[in-house]
Amino acid sequence: MERLLTGDRVTGKLHLGHYVGSLKNRVELQSQVDSLIMLADVQALTTHFEQPDQLAHHLKQVTLDYLSVGIDPNQSTIFVQSMIPEIAELTVYFSMFVTINSLRHNPTIKAEAKENGYEDLYYGFLGYPISQTADITFCKATVVPVGEDQLPHMEQTRKIIRRFNQLYAPIFQEPQAVVGEFPRLIGLDGSSKMSKTKGNTINLDATKEEVHAKIKKATTDPARVRKSDPGHPEVCPIYSYHQAFRKEAVTDIYDGCTNAKLGCVECKQMIAASINHLLEPMRERRNIVLKQPRQIDEILEAGTARARNIGKQTMEEVREAMSMSYF
Ligand code: ATP
Ligand code: MG
Repeated sequence: MERLLTGDRVTGKLHLGHYVGSLKNRVELQSQVDSLIMLADVQALTTHFEQPDQLAHHLKQVTLDYLSVGIDPNQSTIFVQSMIPEIAELTVYFSMFVTINSLRHNPTIKAEAKENGYEDLYYGFLGYPISQTADITFCKATVVPVGEDQLPHMEQTRKIIRRFNQLYAPIFQEPQAVVGEFPRLIGLDGSSKMSKTKGNTINLDATKEEVHAKIKKATTDPARVRKSDPGHPEVCPIYSYHQAFRKEAVTDIYDGCTNAKLGCVECKQMIAASINHLLEPMRERRNIVLKQPRQIDEILEAGTARARNIGKQTMEEVREAMSMSYF
């Protein structure tokens, strides 16, 4: 059976970008493959090392988001990254043969370093693609659902695996990245990616009113001042949301906007209604879980115990491959 590994940094609530970029795929795949879903608390520290006290809260929040979108803990193993020491061990071994230049040239690292205003890069931040390779290999995952920003890391992962297999013994298979239908959802402010840390999101736990209010304030085509001005849907975040959440209506929206027949207010009301329609069943599931919040801890404990067992087995093979089974 194929094994799937994916995860999210525990830096805040999950949003619509996560849903279309990755969560939707996970829900669809969980009945077909052995799914492991990781709460990336160590990776969160690569940028949030000053606030480790936030992790516990975010961990619960993200788990609640998972359950609300329909990730089923009986089908998917949800676990905590920092509680799998094998991931840290593998990171160390892989880092011996990954060069600084190959990390520096990774386009996602470059973009994120710029966003975070880093000039002198932190060692852990620069090296997080190596740690991600360890996340994937500790459980020998073959399928990895990710957003587009993760593709350079997946390429780096495949290279590290090839090198390991060639240096020591061929114990790892090269994994496949599975990009969602909408690999990069734009932010409400029109910036290139809806992102937790940029505050340009519609979170999965947003109320009806919040969805309407956020959409109302969202950026649109700046060249369209009056309804009578023809719009340019290709530069409008709202149009991209129609593409993501109202596929059946995109032709009408495009025509209405470019012919100046459809105004932004009406266009925004339609997309807000569709987003609310998508979020409604998630709100219901969330409320059911919140009636018994203790189950979140139980799910994480059971999932982490299973992941730990898998890690131990892999580590035995790694030590064997590296001739490091001493006694
Ligand atoms: P942060 O700003 O803290 O990095 P993030 O919003 O980028 O948070 P991550 O936890 O880094 O979220 O990403 C988790 C997964 O969700 C990754 O596979 C990523 O590619 C995907 N993802 C995140 N944002 C989007 C988006 N706007 N569109 C599509 N996929 C996304
Ligand atoms: Mg990110």
